[in-house]
Amino acid sequence: MKIFNTLSRRKEEFVPLEPGKVKMYVCGPTVYNYIHIGNARPMIIFDTVRRYFEYKGYEVNFVSNFTDVDDKIIKKAVEEGVDADVISKRYIKECKKDMEGMNVRPATRHPLATEEIGGMLEMIQTLIEKGHAYQAEDGTVYFRVKSFKEYGKLSHKNLDELQSGFREIKVTGEEGKEDPNDFVLWKPKKEGEPFWESPWCEGRPGWHIECSVMAKRYLGDSIDIHAGGEDLIFPHHENEIAQSEAANEKPFATYWMHNGFLNIDNKKMSKSAGNFFTVREISERYDLQVLRFFMLSAHYRSPFNFSDELMESSKNGLERILTCAERLRELQGKASGSGMTEKEKEQEKTLGGLTAKFEAAMEDDFNTADAVSALFEIVKLANTAASEESTREFLDRLMGEIQKLCDVLGIITQRKAEILDDEIEEMIAQRRQARKEKNFALADQIRNTLLEKGIILEDTREGVKWKRV
Ligand code: AMP
Ligand code: ZN
Repeated sequence: MKIFNTLSRRKEEFVPLEPGKVKMYVCGPTVYNYIHIGNARPMIIFDTVRRYFEYKGYEVNFVSNFTDVDDKIIKKAVEEGVDADVISKRYIKECKKDMEGMNVRPATRHPLATEEIGGMLEMIQTLIEKGHAYQAEDGTVYFRVKSFKEYGKLSHKNLDELQSGFREIKVTGEEGKEDPNDFVLWKPKKEGEPFWESPWCEGRPGWHIECSVMAKRYLGDSIDIHAGGEDLIFPHHENEIAQSEAANEKPFATYWMHNGFLNIDNKKMSKSAGNFFTVREISERYDLQVLRFFMLSAHYRSPFNFSDELMESSKNGLERILTCAERLRELQGKASGSGMTEKEKEQEKTLGGLTAKFEAAMEDDFNTADAVSALFEIVKLANTAASEESTREFLDRLMGEIQKLCDVLGIITQRKAEILDDEIEEMIAQRRQARKEKNFALADQIRNTLLEKGIILEDTREGVKWKRV
């Protein structure tokens, strides 16, 4: 399996640290608002990477954080007149809902920055003891960039040409820095902000230290893959490497994977620029499966421009797969007879070749665009080869293969049943009648049918209420 490694700027063969296991860390969102579809790109991509490793039989330990202490969260909390954790908890919950809609599986663990302060204090202390960090007069602790000889190895920047991190939030003045490239590990509290006790001052952590600490705690000093969007290469990931390798004296991550930007009108989609759609907004126009399929239709490292045309074409593409799966299931239900015919055996060979094509694409740095093309070829084969004359065994093979590959891509092959409000009301009326006639079996059956279509009934004093899940 080949992975493009930002460290070497080459595709490299994947060799796990421990046979059969993958330790993977993906930087998660800062939770002060609904996630936008740019944030959704790494979620969908790295969830697919995880799924492919599992398909190949690896056990994947997948850790992804939520940054729940940050200036933007504090600002929003002040605006709403609530505590910062009200904001972060709210948007973590909303983010998890969006993830579910996109069929992004929960990570093995989602640590929160605010629950890892102890580990951060420990790592900062170690860095000070080893001469890699120092305390300024106002209590700020900085990482001494010049003490880490390999600084710049990920972003391929030379120390002299580096400017101080543009993502660094300058809460304190920089007078206490020995060098402009030094970055904050711990900073003094400001009035009204959340803070923690520390040996240096009451304050809060810088942004970068949380990931070094969480990766160490949940995955170990050395991990296989560290990932995120390409804007994180510098300074965030460069700084994570400096912190982790200086503190642990071991290589941090073997492979660094970065997705390209999702753009709008060829400009990076971002909250600060205001040119974004939230996943929630998109969910009002499309099933989020369409968004997932859209993301997979481009190579993850390429910049990708969001447009209605591409979303429509993803919708149609997904529809083709769902229609094929629906037809296969119908045929399976009717078919009988075991033992494939000679012709089916030939077609099965073609199917095997197409699956190999899918795998080859995924193994070439997760080329999901080519993998999707191979899947479409399988759909085409299924549409022409499967018929009422097909044997059950052959239909099972076709459906099994499509299901397996869709699982890798995180595509659900079952169409969500659509039901209109009027139909729901009609069924509720039938259920009321059934209960009146004491036909409870029928009443339950109606309730279950509705449940399968995602409609929940609630019996209240004012009568039956319903909602969509
Ligand atoms: P943030 O909440 O800004 O830290 O972002 C969370 C994740 O989304 C990081 O991995 C970012 O690199 C990624 N990200 C943010 N904006 C975009 C975008 N427009 N395209 C692709 N990835 C993005
Ligand atoms: Zn991170």
